[in-house]
Amino acid sequence: MAAALAVVLLGVAVFLFARNARQRSSGTPPAPVVCESCGREFYIKTNDEEPVCPYCKAPASIRRLYFQCRQCGHAFVAYEWDTKNEMARVPGGEWVPKDQCPLEAVCPECGGPTKFVRDIRKVRQ
Ligand SMILES: [Zn+2]
Ligand SMILES: [Zn+2]
Repeated sequence: MAAALAVVLLGVAVFLFARNARQRSSGTPPAPVVCESCGREFYIKTNDEEPVCPYCKAPASIRRLYFQCRQCGHAFVAYEWDTKNEMARVPGGEWVPKDQCPLEAVCPECGGPTKFVRDIRKVRQ
């Protein structure tokens, strides 16, 4: 009986481990980080990392979410997100709790519909 239970628990553990590994490898790449001290943008490899600005060495916690226009292709920062305080804002706007920031944006160039950009580096190439 105990052996059967152990086998079940082992199965659950393997399943959870496999699921975690899959999420880590195929998830959205980490959003670009913007330094609050010098204002420059940089990339991190994983979301688990505590970002430190490579230019001025200041700790940074603000991520940028890029959107791209489906009509004209213009890519822009739709939101900035402070991962430390879970606050979000439209660039230049007021910080509000993340869940109060509506995740939809229209193109600032043509007013067209937009989509979230998973990896801005691919768009900029
Ligand atoms: Zn910096
Ligand atoms: Zn547009």
